[in-house]
Amino acid sequence: MALTHWLRRHSFCLSRRKRSLLWKLTVVALASLLFCEFLIYYLVIFWCRWPEVGTPAPGRRGPVLKAMFLADTHLLGEITGHWLDKLRREWQMERAFQTALWLLQPEVVFILGDVFDEGKWSSPKAWEEEMARFRQMFRHPGHVQLKVVAGNHDIGFHYEMSPYKVKRFEEVFSSDRLFSWKGVNFVMVNSVALEGDGCGICSEVEAELTEVSRRLNCSREVPGSSQCAGGQQLPASAPILLQHYPLYRASDANCSGEDAAPPEERNIPFQEKYDVLSREASQKLLWWFRPRLILSGHTHSACEVLHRGGVPEISVPSFSWRNRNNPSFIMGSFTPRDHALSKCFLPLEGTVLSTYCAAAGLLVVLTFARLECLAKPFLSVWTLLRMHMAR
Ligand SMILES: [Zn+2]
Repeated sequence: MALTHWLRRHSFCLSRRKRSLLWKLTVVALASLLFCEFLIYYLVIFWCRWPEVGTPAPGRRGPVLKAMFLADTHLLGEITGHWLDKLRREWQMERAFQTALWLLQPEVVFILGDVFDEGKWSSPKAWEEEMARFRQMFRHPGHVQLKVVAGNHDIGFHYEMSPYKVKRFEEVFSSDRLFSWKGVNFVMVNSVALEGDGCGICSEVEAELTEVSRRLNCSREVPGSSQCAGGQQLPASAPILLQHYPLYRASDANCSGEDAAPPEERNIPFQEKYDVLSREASQKLLWWFRPRLILSGHTHSACEVLHRGGVPEISVPSFSWRNRNNPSFIMGSFTPRDHALSKCFLPLEGTVLSTYCAAAGLLVVLTFARLECLAKPFLSVWTLLRMHMAR
């Protein structure tokens, strides 16, 4: 009788303890999930600030354009991408992008190529699926402009590029080479087509760029010359070049900073037309546009280069955690005459993994601590039974 009573009392306590353990485990697991998958993006991006553009003369402060630049998102495809890798990376990029949009409210976002990892191989069906995922991840309100330049993974390297792939890309992301807003001119270059071998696509792209260059030069020089007559006048402002391949540089040896290429890779010489544009194409772009700033992607690492004539180029690191532990994007404030840039780092992959490991450790400790408590009543039952049988 005493044993039955004791068992009933302890089975009640046992289920209460089990429930309490389960409750604690659920809370820890959900809290770590909520932190690592949502809150961390707000906590990190909250500290990013739009840079201040140089103080203009009193009464001359014009509108400032707030632009965000990111590169090399490499949305995985069906051929080489593992579904788990795809799910994880796309979730991270979506959260980072949506949080940045909400907190920072940019007016225009530029993606500097290699949006897709397998755009160069995608079948029409796969391309549609990848586009659907892109639209979901990078959804944005109507008042925010999203502009994309082509990268070698989107349309293929020069040798695999075809009119079909270029058309497919430009039908979705527009074929415009020039974007002007608030008196600021951005030139979006298809740098994959700057091979300089006179191929059909290359000739077309060069012709478009020289026309844009003519229009920009007309806006910056004394109007009225015969070459500049007619057409819509552009803002008289030195343009910003946006492209996937960086202008020619020998290597990343002079790059520094926490997100520059790793030291063992910095001295590896760059190959023209593969890692960077050819010297000739780089020279042409500088000569055609006389830009005030160049932003490029492709290397996945950060770098600041000063080209001839003091033109700065910023290599924007990859936005994907697949390529970096510390992805980032560039925030730029632009006026027709001036600009300022800052970098916004995203949560470190290492921090997220450490948090999950700490949470997993806590779950194990909680379980073991409770198991010890749970084991006690069983031991008591065993002792009681032995005493009962011995009688
Ligand atoms: Zn690339």
